[in-house]
Amino acid sequence: MSHHQPIHTAEILCVGTELLLGDIVNTNAAYLSRKLAELGIHVYRHTAVGDNPTRLKHALEAAFAEADLVITSGGLGPTYDDLTKETVASYFGCELEMHEESLCTIRSYFSRIGREMTKNNEKQAMMPKGAIVFPNHYGTAPSLALCKGGKTVIMLPGPPGELCPIFEEEILPYLKSRRETVLVSKNIHIFGMGESAVESHLKELMTESKNPTVAPYCKEGEVRLRVTAESDCEASATAMCDEMIEQIRQSEVGAYIYGVDVGCLEQAVVLFLRERGLTMACAESCTGGLIAKRVTDIAGCSDVFLGGCVTYANEAKERLLGVSHESLERFGAVSEQVAREMARGVRERLGADVGVSATGIAGPGGGSPEKPVGTVYIGVSTAKGEQVRKLSLSSMRSREYIRIVSAGNAYDMILKCEL
Ligand code: ATP
Repeated sequence: MSHHQPIHTAEILCVGTELLLGDIVNTNAAYLSRKLAELGIHVYRHTAVGDNPTRLKHALEAAFAEADLVITSGGLGPTYDDLTKETVASYFGCELEMHEESLCTIRSYFSRIGREMTKNNEKQAMMPKGAIVFPNHYGTAPSLALCKGGKTVIMLPGPPGELCPIFEEEILPYLKSRRETVLVSKNIHIFGMGESAVESHLKELMTESKNPTVAPYCKEGEVRLRVTAESDCEASATAMCDEMIEQIRQSEVGAYIYGVDVGCLEQAVVLFLRERGLTMACAESCTGGLIAKRVTDIAGCSDVFLGGCVTYANEAKERLLGVSHESLERFGAVSEQVAREMARGVRERLGADVGVSATGIAGPGGGSPEKPVGTVYIGVSTAKGEQVRKLSLSSMRSREYIRIVSAGNAYDMILKCEL
């Protein structure tokens, strides 16, 4: 058995009749695909098969027609319908033998959780000869890798609560040890420029650069570029990534980059404020608390986030934030003036360094010809004064989208505000 040949291509083969009946969503395939992509292993196909040895065997044959590696999920349990290990062993022509270490681990797992170990749990400790066995600290079914003639199968248990940590702790180092080179990836975070604009500015880099590669990923209102370099050591792969990132910073896209490997916008805001020893507060109308919610999703944000007000009614804007009655009457709640006063009001009342506000029409109702759905004013206030950005998002967009993009703009304005 050779556990040394390099791996380039893979198939993910999920076992479980529940998947075919639509009882569960195949989140394991999505997770494994993401992880393999990070390792530079190309996933050619996802397959799902029921708990049936003949069809599983056919699926293995089909997978190995193209892939060096097949990762299976599910079917490792102790019951009669869990047959992944037996079927893979027979596909490779390997016998099963008792793996004493696994037997001990399973025994101690049962004594730890205070449950009786049944005879069929012993079946879980039977392993194909020559397999590498990875311990499972999260359940009873150990994972294993089996290699023969340039083909590798890695078998993982089905429950995501077991599969994901085992992958991180055991499989990732194993797959890395099978690589001849080192891959380093860095994520460039972009806000305020759409995916197609980013692509059109960086088309050449994205299509022609093979090492590092530059690949876009987008989510609502944001674009992420993943730069991946391959080299014989980590330092040189990192340097190659950094050089490419610098080149992208010099392009038209540069002005829209809010960070590299910063996680997300709100994370970047927390870091930005923390580095400067500043605090923030928010006043929200159309975002209904989303700006505060996303910041407080970040553990440990209490040193920078003081609080916020959700002021939906005009009266609440007046009473809680001190927005003037006259401004509300004259310009309306969705206006530059009110956004300005909301941001200033919350900053002053909470004693924050930065106040941010959002007031707009998230729809689907409530629009008018002068202020259609998607009109949002974002305000930011500091000791230097106030700035307001007007968004004119498409009225065809969902309420949820308008709120997400409004919150995104609020964070972006904090990152760019005059301090
Ligand atoms: P166990 O040790 O729990 O018996 P197993 O390897 O036998 O693990 P299965 O019995 O096939 O796993 O699946 C157990 C549970 O794991 C399923 O009921 C389901 O909740 C979850 N699961 C299985 N496959 C997937 C998948 N591809 N994506 C997401 N969840 C899954």
